[in-house]
Amino acid sequence: MPRPISATINLSALHHNLNIVRQHVGAAKIWSVVKANAYGHGLARVWQGLAATDGFAMLDLNEAIMLREQGWQGPILLLEGFFQPRDIMLLDHYHLTTTVHSDWQLEAINAARLSAPLNIYLKFNSGMNRLGFPIGQMDAIWQWATSLSNVGDITLMSHFANADNPIGVGEQFSVIQQASAAIPAARCLANSAAILGNPETHFDWVRPGIILYGASPSGDVADIAEIGLQPVMSLNSEIIALQSLTAGHCVGYGSRYQARSAQRIGVVACGYADGYPRLAPNGTPIMVDGILTQTVGAISMDMLTVDLTPCPQAQIGSKVEIWGENVPIDTVAQAAGTVGYELMCALANRVKVTTQRT
Ligand SMILES: *Cc1c(COP(=O)(O)O)cnc(C)c1O
Repeated sequence: MPRPISATINLSALHHNLNIVRQHVGAAKIWSVVKANAYGHGLARVWQGLAATDGFAMLDLNEAIMLREQGWQGPILLLEGFFQPRDIMLLDHYHLTTTVHSDWQLEAINAARLSAPLNIYLKFNSGMNRLGFPIGQMDAIWQWATSLSNVGDITLMSHFANADNPIGVGEQFSVIQQASAAIPAARCLANSAAILGNPETHFDWVRPGIILYGASPSGDVADIAEIGLQPVMSLNSEIIALQSLTAGHCVGYGSRYQARSAQRIGVVACGYADGYPRLAPNGTPIMVDGILTQTVGAISMDMLTVDLTPCPQAQIGSKVEIWGENVPIDTVAQAAGTVGYELMCALANRVKVTTQRT
């Protein structure tokens, strides 16, 4: 028997979540963001669950090529652009759309010998100060790009730093609006948080990531409670041992949890080497035999321990939901001081994955 931990990826949930995004964005087209191996879900495994998308956006050239070789013929966007001039030959060959955020990239495109003009996303820095041309140069960069015969369709792109928190998109959005007012190009601005909260930012193309996978952009599960998203990934395991503590007994490394009275503890086959957050404190939610309970004691590499007080019937072999439909990944992430994004992406290779279609 293999170790009892496994992840299930629900392709119908993915399809359902894409429909929900569609309802929010009206006529705007959708780049389904599948970077980081589809947020840890496995790009090869999941892309067909998103086949109703208008395009796929990612970072890695090899993942883009894999998608082409698996049969996706629609648009593909490289969100960080290309990293060396010689990559342009592959963009040309596989018909990939690339982000362009620096002068050297436009120069390299101009110097390349292409079979057809490249479609590009001109990325502007509107306040996040990560990637992008200075937004004050939008006119000049636009003129330059338009003058190049190797450049095909041009879309204006920027990224919001605070769409998922109370600061909001207001200041960046007005900077973008001013800079682009006179430029007759399509726009692409909104990530998941802006898709849900800022319809004025939708324009021509949107870029949802986390909401496709059924989790919250802010990390707060309450922020997506009314939207009807379904979690795509669930992580499940089993109780592999039981301990009966008496008052004063401690559990696990560092004796971080001490029983105040007699208490049954279950040992679950899941640890930080499976992708569970090591920083999850005592009290992180987890479900045993369909009953919500919590972790007690430090998370080990291969095991964690749970309080069985609410589920006295639990035995060796009892089913454990680590996250999924009943234990939102956001609640586990929040307890551990991180976000659902990180937990999904960190799902370890050693966890067996099965795909569910209904
Ligand atoms: C990751 C990413 C997105 C998607 O972000 P979510 O918060 O997951 O919706 C959109 N645009 C860019 C440029 C990204 O890097």
